[in-house]
Amino acid sequence: MRVRFWGVRGTIPCASSSYLRYGGNTSCVTIACKDRLLIFDAGSGIRPLGPWVQSQGFLAADLFLSHVHWDHIQGLPFFKPLYQADFSLAVWAGNLQAQGLTIQEALAEQMSEPFFPIAIDRFAADIIFRDFMAGQTIDLGDGIVLRTAPLNHPQGATGYRVDYDGVSVCYVTDTEHRPGKLDPEILTLIHGANLVIYDSTYTDQEFFRYAGWGHSTWQQGVRLCQAAEVEQLAIFHHDPDHDDNVMDRIAEEAHDMWPDAFVAKEGQQLTL
Ligand SMILES: [Zn+2]
Ligand SMILES: [Zn+2]
Repeated sequence: MRVRFWGVRGTIPCASSSYLRYGGNTSCVTIACKDRLLIFDAGSGIRPLGPWVQSQGFLAADLFLSHVHWDHIQGLPFFKPLYQADFSLAVWAGNLQAQGLTIQEALAEQMSEPFFPIAIDRFAADIIFRDFMAGQTIDLGDGIVLRTAPLNHPQGATGYRVDYDGVSVCYVTDTEHRPGKLDPEILTLIHGANLVIYDSTYTDQEFFRYAGWGHSTWQQGVRLCQAAEVEQLAIFHHDPDHDDNVMDRIAEEAHDMWPDAFVAKEGQQLTL
């Protein structure tokens, strides 16, 4: 499995010389399993992914949305393969059914006037919309199994686990933990995984100022991964107020707490 980080930021993209080393694009991660391409979230990081997908000759992909807050969908209209008639994309979301919405309706709304000039039906690609209930297990074929779990976030979100060829990678963002507790849904989802990408927007010290905002901390990521016997933690969904210097400090502290934790950087690739 090849994992690549195209956008590691949460909330809003940031661009200045203070964000060059860790990156300023919002959430987008790919997991390639042989010739299948799985995309997690469509933050602004999906824009640079577009030309890469075209250069690699992919004509299909699956996009799994954690939820539809701006920082997870804002790049979608700028994903170039969608303007290509021979491309097909399956778009999956697990948190909307419970709100009486479909993913097609939600994305069509994002791309409607007066918010955006190009309507969703202008995409030339074949788009298949797939709503499910977070908690379901989905067989993606080709030996890829996707497990999902509901996350604690305003309007809900979905955590994912991909199992392929004896390797497991989890994508768990956005979620707020309860202090002193380990979320049992997350523990079950990530148990024994090789890599967990986790909502680490805040530090434990900052967390109490942001109760109810729907995010977690890198320290909580370490606690969850240690309890669930996970091999590696990727600290992810960085706060826009955390510039490169702050992220350097977090990387050092995280390494001291658990050497298997690292701060995800835009452009970083891992082969598992
Ligand atoms: Zn977010
Ligand atoms: Zn969110």
